[in-house]
Amino acid sequence: MHLKSLTVKGFKSFASATTLRLEPGITCVVGPNGSGKSNVVDAIAWVLGEQGAKALRGGKMEDVIFAGTAGRAPLGRAEVTLTIDNGDGALPIDYTEVSITRRMFRSGESEYEINGSSCRLLDIQELLSDSGIGREMHIIVGQGRLDAMLHAKPEDRRAFIEEAAGVLKHRKRKEKAIRKLDAMQTNLNRLNDLTAELR
Ligand code: ATP
Repeated sequence: MHLKSLTVKGFKSFASATTLRLEPGITCVVGPNGSGKSNVVDAIAWVLGEQGAKALRGGKMEDVIFAGTAGRAPLGRAEVTLTIDNGDGALPIDYTEVSITRRMFRSGESEYEINGSSCRLLDIQELLSDSGIGREMHIIVGQGRLDAMLHAKPEDRRAFIEEAAGVLKHRKRKEKAIRKLDAMQTNLNRLNDLTAELR
């Protein structure tokens, strides 16, 4: 599995549609200060489901939408598509190429797609959760991140290792199942009360 291409449109400094083709191996992005190198990395984090504006170096999520320049009006939406080569089947989906799209409007409304079909953020998170490019973005190591990891609390470090090992997904499913069981038990109790009243 490797990242094949990234198309960015209306995202941060990328007003016009821009496609970066990525080959297997190492890719270096070079350019002057403020030219948008980090915005490329932000686009990857964002399309993979990042929900924190701070992690994207903004104050609020809307800040990812092109805000305009002296010569160009602001845009109403940001859109990023990441195409992943899935030739080795690392992603549990029957396609050798997988495109993930995220779109956001100024109203705050977001849309997600997998290979052009609408889906929920949860579908994207589930698709990626066993591949090592999960929600916590351990694939993106920002400045100061290694230091934070070394000084993390044991439980935070454990969460990191669990995600890397693919355990986190099952833990979340277990928590969800327990919540459903609890709700079911409440319903059963209520039913028993009603039956007792009718006797
Ligand atoms: P450095 O080498 O200094 O780290 P960089 O190449 O990584 O810089 P970025 O931080 O990616 O640069 O890009 C910063 C630029 O992106 C700034 O010029 C900023 O004005 C622009 N920018 C960020 N968000 C938006 C937005 N929503 N609309 C328009 N431009 C934006």
